[in-house]
Amino acid sequence: MREGTAIFWFRRDLRVHDNAGLYEALKRFDCVIPVFVFDTGILAELPRYDRRVDFIAQALEVLDQQLRSHGSALHVGVGEPTKLLPELVQRYGAQAVYTNGDYEPDALQRDAVVERSLASRGVTLHRFKDQVVFEKSEVVKDDASPYTVFTPFSRKWKKQLTPFFLQAYPSERYAANLARSEQLQLPAQRPDLASLGFERTDLQFAPPRIARSLLAQYGAQRDFPAVHGTSRLGIHLRFGTGSIRALAQQAIDGSEVFLNELIWREFFQTLLWHFPKTVTHSFKPAYDNIVWRNNEADFKRWCEGQTGYPLVDAGMRELNATGFMHNRVRMVVASFLCKHLLIDWRWGERYFAKHLLDYELAANVGNWQWAAGSGADAAPYFRVFNPTLQAKKFDPDGAYVRQWVPEFGKGDYPAPMVEHTEARARCLQVYQRAVKEQ
Ligand code: FAD
Repeated sequence: MREGTAIFWFRRDLRVHDNAGLYEALKRFDCVIPVFVFDTGILAELPRYDRRVDFIAQALEVLDQQLRSHGSALHVGVGEPTKLLPELVQRYGAQAVYTNGDYEPDALQRDAVVERSLASRGVTLHRFKDQVVFEKSEVVKDDASPYTVFTPFSRKWKKQLTPFFLQAYPSERYAANLARSEQLQLPAQRPDLASLGFERTDLQFAPPRIARSLLAQYGAQRDFPAVHGTSRLGIHLRFGTGSIRALAQQAIDGSEVFLNELIWREFFQTLLWHFPKTVTHSFKPAYDNIVWRNNEADFKRWCEGQTGYPLVDAGMRELNATGFMHNRVRMVVASFLCKHLLIDWRWGERYFAKHLLDYELAANVGNWQWAAGSGADAAPYFRVFNPTLQAKKFDPDGAYVRQWVPEFGKGDYPAPMVEHTEARARCLQVYQRAVKEQ
């Protein structure tokens, strides 16, 4: 039976097609109001030139066009969602709010406040799984405890997968139940970057696609930063402009190695769900005993790509200039910060959070802890990447380094800020001391 009006609240799912929560709302209600809220609390903390905000603004334009092609439009609000949602519910006389789950601790807290406030008005907040194939405790050990090692997690993930989990939610089938644009009480002008106080950046929104040829080559090419061998879909997965179900299906048909990367994403999301304290604490408690050097000047050189190790510097400069850094290079720069410089992984995690286009809390914390050795299923602490050997192996003809560090080998490039063998020995000493204290 169809009933009345509901709000659909877009968050990390900025698309009409194959959107689980939107589909469920459209199936049950005959007037669904599509809403997005620019959270002023989050915006206040961001620099005025931020490619992620620009990405969202451009994605919202595309979303609005998709909705308009169905005779509807996107209601974009600006404010605190905890206040705005109840206001919109009242304004539209909505009986329910539908949305897709967001598992980050801050988002969970925000949703709990929204939920309570709506409940006091007799309105329910309904949440659906959309940004992952398996969420929360869907992939756990036989005794229901969470996995802390990737390989058995991925094995179980694959074992549990049936076509059911990858089926698309055909929201378009019920598009007639989207509120007509004339029913919406839209602001005179849709909030945009300028009205939010942000600048247009160099970001060009491109639809989330992955070429079959890229998938076919992915396993062989994904480790070489000079090659465009990875999907660059991270930001689309972050904001849900592409469907994880569709992408996982492509991976199953095209590349097992790529599928494993998508499972790493779910592994880290599941870990964060079960161990939210790992945002600020080492997964292995002994690693919080490490006496970091935390030298500010060293940190600055790392941030600016002036360490004297060309692969590290190329990575940091690519990140600063574009918001992207290749995964292999992320591993090298992260290891260098924690182990060569003995700087707390949390400093690096925060720097990446500010600059990465595809920044995502679970993946960032999980990978930083992996690099620091403190995480679940992390690199052992005594494995210290040698940045020179890594460059030889993964950038053999130096094309990547030449692109980002053109002065390398020409005289005005700094000498290495630490000597590898000495830094490695110092790292092992400090780490061993911490781990022994356990
Ligand atoms: P592809 O190689 O094409 O992979 C496809 C997708 O799989 C990615 O978009 C991503 O969603 C997922 N994926 C791939 N590798 C990983 C991984 N190791 N962990 C989790 N998911 C993965 N990834 C983020 O999405 N957000 C982050 O904030 C982030 N921070 C990182 C920090 C460090 C120190 C390291 C070493 C890695 C980090 N990664 C992060 C993982 C990985 O580097 C990026 O997902 C990848 O480089 C993004 O490029 P791509 O989309 O071309 O990836």
